[in-house]
Amino acid sequence: MTINSNDLHFKNSIFGAGLTLEALQTQLDSVSVPYADVDCRTCPNPCDEGHESYPNKFSVDMESTMFGSVKPYHRQIVISTGKMDWDREITSTKNSLAAHVQHVIHNAPMSVSPAGAEIKSKRVNHVSGVFNSSDSSKLSILNGSHHTISDNPEYETVLVFPDYIMVTEVPRSLDGAKALWDAALAPSVSILPPVHEKGNLSSWIIPYSCVILLCSHKRRDNRCHIAAAQLGQAFTHSLEDHGWTVDTEIEHPLHTMGLPLEKLQGTEAENEECTTRQFQEIASEKRALILRNSHTGGHRYAGNCIIYTPQGSGVWYGRVSTHEVESIVSQTLEEGLVLPPLLRGGMNISRPGCMSLNDW
Ligand SMILES: [Zn+2]
Repeated sequence: MTINSNDLHFKNSIFGAGLTLEALQTQLDSVSVPYADVDCRTCPNPCDEGHESYPNKFSVDMESTMFGSVKPYHRQIVISTGKMDWDREITSTKNSLAAHVQHVIHNAPMSVSPAGAEIKSKRVNHVSGVFNSSDSSKLSILNGSHHTISDNPEYETVLVFPDYIMVTEVPRSLDGAKALWDAALAPSVSILPPVHEKGNLSSWIIPYSCVILLCSHKRRDNRCHIAAAQLGQAFTHSLEDHGWTVDTEIEHPLHTMGLPLEKLQGTEAENEECTTRQFQEIASEKRALILRNSHTGGHRYAGNCIIYTPQGSGVWYGRVSTHEVESIVSQTLEEGLVLPPLLRGGMNISRPGCMSLNDW
């Protein structure tokens, strides 16, 4: 069953066949995911706050169970392209960094297991859709709307999650992809604490308090394209109301973060302390980066967004309309609580002993 946008107000009470809000909350409790027990919608229905609506033909899958529709991955990267739409298969675009990274993955040894993989076997509870980076060795490749911050247009700027690191000066070549893989992407690699030699690549802590990824891959599905435009505006509006600044292009971190991590001169312990401090400072600054990204799967749940934070979580939301954006900003970004009705799943959102995803 699909329903049109006129019926979207029912969305907060529908979780797909066989899953009630209470059952979902019980599952989240069992793996210690901090969530908000509030309505996802702050405006009345029908809306009187001027939020933009999806077109009448905009159909959303309200039947299937959305929670659990995210498959574990070890890392996800977002590559600079300066575009908001891409070839259907981004890894088929000739001479793109996405294609080169895909080539490197194909030729990587298969037996590598991620650092810390033993944690999984020790975990008693398992809820589909809630995972840690160590649960998988898979790399998810996305294109992003940001332009490279390099002076050389042949060098890309790549965001790496959940590490929350930005790698700059990555040549758009097979050698560039190999260097990036060795420095930041191979499952056996820890990006932090920083090491001094990574070829010509530079790494930085992403100079924003959160990164909001909006799926906008028109050539895959027009719904995400429509949703991304509306949600981008709604997020900007709401965030600014809450005193945040919003960027859609990456400001060069030289101005905010100082030197790249490779240039840190201290001992390993001192450098670790320095990066921890940088993460904590940036987390408190109310600076948001909103990017469009290529297909992540699940267009039928449009609008789709993923929210990454310096604390290392990645929250996947679906069935998002402009009416839910205010709650996402106040509850998820400011309070560090997920909104169960919108939740597709998330990385590192299981936080035993924490009241909030914003805890360290
Ligand atoms: Zn509204």
